Amino acid sequence: MKNIDEIRADFPILGRRVYDKPLVYLDNGATTQKPRVVIDALADVYLSYNANIHRGVHHLSDIASEAYENSRETVRSFINAEKREEVVFTSGTTGSINGLAFSIGERFVNKGDEIILSHLEHHANIVPWQMMCERKGAIIKVIPVDDNGDIIFEEYLRLLSSRTKLVSITQVSNAIGTVLPVNEIIAAAHTLNIPVMIDGAQGIQHGVVDVREMDCDFYVFSGHKVYGPNGIGCLYGKEKWLSELPPFQGGGDMVDQVTFEKTTYNELPFKFEAGTTDYPAAIGLATALGYVTSIGRNYIEQREKELLSYATERLLSIKGLKIYGNSARKISTISFLLEGIHQYDTGMILDKMGIAVRTGTHCAQPVMKRYGIDGTVRASLCFYNTNQEIDTLAAGIEKVIKMFA
Ligand code: PMP
Repeated sequence: MKNIDEIRADFPILGRRVYDKPLVYLDNGATTQKPRVVIDALADVYLSYNANIHRGVHHLSDIASEAYENSRETVRSFINAEKREEVVFTSGTTGSINGLAFSIGERFVNKGDEIILSHLEHHANIVPWQMMCERKGAIIKVIPVDDNGDIIFEEYLRLLSSRTKLVSITQVSNAIGTVLPVNEIIAAAHTLNIPVMIDGAQGIQHGVVDVREMDCDFYVFSGHKVYGPNGIGCLYGKEKWLSELPPFQGGGDMVDQVTFEKTTYNELPFKFEAGTTDYPAAIGLATALGYVTSIGRNYIEQREKELLSYATERLLSIKGLKIYGNSARKISTISFLLEGIHQYDTGMILDKMGIAVRTGTHCAQPVMKRYGIDGTVRASLCFYNTNQEIDTLAAGIEKVIKMFA
């Protein structure tokens, strides 16, 4: 088991300074930093075996294709999907949801049908469904949230009906940290045979994800939020759904036979992987998942719980600081405001102290509106953060308050 210094040493960027102060990186919800093994894996592709996958007969193409398909197997095992065919590489969560919204819309959605979302969704899990609903004449229904940031389950049950074509829900709110009761949400939808998509963008990096145990029909996530490269992500789908859905992009590799009259499609998962995918990033993602496994997902979950409780206690001791999102089930993300001080001012002053936090609406304007605010400061912590960094944040916030007093 590595100690925290050894873990931090795995992430070269954590050792840098900002404005001549040690970097305190608390913006992991936006993107995580990369361990050296991931950076090395990417470099290794380009330095020693770069070639387009699934196409050449030559040696390098064979190595790259095999590494890419092994990466798919790593993802399958990491999320415990039943089959490799159920794991589609995409450009990320946004790419996955846009693709799925198109395909589901084309195949299953008609005028008057409904899609259920929650009030906690990121724009990436709102806008693609809206675009599809506009095309198809369908309607979005929204599960409300209470003052703590939990969805109101009875309201959800009321929304489910024979008109519901899909429930698309985040596993964890990026804006306020709530962990949603996805197992219960899925079980309730399944009593009416309604499929459920889980947005795992903020879920996959914080604990064990088991799509079979969850029994979700689709699960999407981004590599860059789980210590992997940018530009890669996944769309997991149960085979029974993926085989029924039409592709969302046409192009090379996703086809079987092409004539000008008609095209037949490739088998799963290639039907959904048109064109040259970012195979180096897929290999980097698999390396990141391997790294996470080596640290231990149970360890990560436990350590982040400790960080959350330390940070919550520390920040709540600051007079005038209010936390938004007080669910009993939260990941290590704290959204807050300081009385009478705009979030941008807080964020900009903290930045000058080397502390990186996010400010604004966190691409979740509806939930901000729900609480009558136009944004928050968000500190999103992960297992490489330390209690000392939380102390630095708390001291920085005290300084901001003094400056505005
Ligand atoms: N859903 C949630 C809950 C997110 O937090 C994010 C990223 N902030 C996204 C979707 C979109 O992810 P990406 O930008 O990597 O596609």
